Amino acid sequence: MKGEPYLFLPGPTPVPERVCRAMNRPMINHRGDEFKDILEDVVAGIKQIYRTRANVLIYPASGTGGLEAAVVNFISPGDQVLAVSIGVFGDRFAMIASNFGAVVEKMDFSWGTGADPQKIKERLAQDTDHQIKAVLITQNETSTGAYNDVKAVREAMGDHPALLMVDAVSGLAAIELRMDEWKLDVVISGSQKAFMIPPGLSFMAFSDRAYQVHKSNTNTSYYWNVDQGMEYQLKGQTPFTPPISLYFGLHEALQMMAEEGLDNVIARHTAYRDLVRASLRALGLKLLTEDRYASAAVTSVIAPPEIGANQIRKYMFDQFNIILAGGQQSLDNVVFRVGHLGYIRELDLLSVLAALEITLLHFKFPLELGTGLKIAQKAIFDMHQQ
Ligand code: PLP
Repeated sequence: MKGEPYLFLPGPTPVPERVCRAMNRPMINHRGDEFKDILEDVVAGIKQIYRTRANVLIYPASGTGGLEAAVVNFISPGDQVLAVSIGVFGDRFAMIASNFGAVVEKMDFSWGTGADPQKIKERLAQDTDHQIKAVLITQNETSTGAYNDVKAVREAMGDHPALLMVDAVSGLAAIELRMDEWKLDVVISGSQKAFMIPPGLSFMAFSDRAYQVHKSNTNTSYYWNVDQGMEYQLKGQTPFTPPISLYFGLHEALQMMAEEGLDNVIARHTAYRDLVRASLRALGLKLLTEDRYASAAVTSVIAPPEIGANQIRKYMFDQFNIILAGGQQSLDNVVFRVGHLGYIRELDLLSVLAALEITLLHFKFPLELGTGLKIAQKAIFDMHQQ
């Protein structure tokens, strides 16, 4: 029996039953008191996840909408922008900025690694007349499973006045991020990742410094305009009809995260990453990223070339209803990606590892069943002794 699918994607991630039930309610008036209370609660909850007292807006949009909102509000046409990229989503942020008229300078690092803060420091040091108005960076590069040390990048920027704008769509609440302490200016995230709710909401936090930049911004937008968003938020509303069901879900998911405690949520993601990586390595598989760049949200596994990543994914789906992500662009059929963020539980990890061992054996990859699983079981045993 195959039953329901197991989603091991780096988004959308599984939605807890509590959240599903919370969303399964009739509509309410989005300009009434009940919605006002929910909006106040969820904005406060999101600020805790961002570890910020800055402004937070919730957009009815996927993560890309949030990136576009960041660009149109804080970057003007003609602004010089340094776009740091370690993969598909770094490229996307750069492209959005370019589409809205920024003069984009790309700084690329090879896929599977994180950015070198020293290189960013050196580039900004050359910019003595401060032509670079913003540095764009991805916290967690979902396409490769590498993450950037955003804190180190901020430190490397020193007193250069460029805004630091961070795509934390898949990293927030899985990997440590401290918006205020690290002095980040604009941070975007999305609902369908570590927040454990369906796709459709994007969150954007922005510092007062970013808001000052916004005041002289010459890009125009209607839907994304932060002034309008903040004005309505003060009244306990959103400018446009919000996806109310998603707000019900968000409210519940934030409650679950508060019950667990943010430090524990982050620690759980880190422990799962380590467990998954150790188990896969014990099977003799190679991973795309070195440990120092390894994402706590998703792991890219290099498939044995004689089997190919897509055949592994297909077998896992056909036989076990397990859904793994494929490699993007040049990584297609080279890697498969195991998402381990959001509502993934210990026993889910054992399931995916057990099914992977069976799959590899089916394709005659030399292994002894239970090799990776044993490592994972031991790690879980240890976690339960603490
Ligand atoms: N940025 C990152 C790091 C992502 O992982 C994603 C989606 O996976 C996006 C941006 C784009 O988000 P969406 O597909 O929700 O528009």
